[in-house]
Amino acid sequence: MAGNLPPMLQWMVDATIRARGIRDPQVLRAMETVPRQLFVRPEDASEAFSDRALPLGLGQTISQPYVVALMTELARLSPGDRVLEVGTGSGYQAAILAECGAEVYSIERLPELAEKARQRLAELGLVVHLRVGDGARGWPEHAPYRAILVTAAPSHVPPELLEQLDLGGRLVVPEGGREGQVLRVYRRTEEGFEVSDHGAVLFVPLR
Ligand code: SAH
Repeated sequence: MAGNLPPMLQWMVDATIRARGIRDPQVLRAMETVPRQLFVRPEDASEAFSDRALPLGLGQTISQPYVVALMTELARLSPGDRVLEVGTGSGYQAAILAECGAEVYSIERLPELAEKARQRLAELGLVVHLRVGDGARGWPEHAPYRAILVTAAPSHVPPELLEQLDLGGRLVVPEGGREGQVLRVYRRTEEGFEVSDHGAVLFVPLR
């Protein structure tokens, strides 16, 4: 399998994902499998494998590959886990989650982006449940989730999202406003939530 990878995708995973400490084998395999070049605008294809966020149009961006890998690793998924993503954007993070074997639900507020993501995911044969709407309220019909990944930054996590987390489940979120965001994990316990911080990040705001 490894021999057949596009060399640039292999390079991206070795130089920017493995080198920066991502170890979870299912995350590394997913990052080596999903063709990131199909999730960026055609004019940015030559930049698809650099560790950068890239524009999607409408003021939105596809996250840098390292941050996608880190958020996926922090979610600690097992195959079959039900996962909610808030902010489908290009569909790339949703594709990585699906490739890890998760049952993925993803919400995007901008119909144009959601439609493009739907086409890309279908072309790759990946099953992801998509909806256009306000992801800050979650998707209660399919709750509880084993993991929730918020890929746009709220100043504070909406309580509706925390409520939709399963016991032992993890919510991964860039939390903070213009002054700066930190990648934070909320793990639901019997008593409440255990919170841990995982470095500074920069996401577009959650609307
Ligand atoms: N996960 C995406 C990148 C997300 S960029 C990827 O892999 O490409 C953040 C996305 O969140 C944008 O597409 C933006 O439109 C969306 N967004 C912002 N606020 C939202 C909200 N309240 N509900 C749903 N989507 C939202």
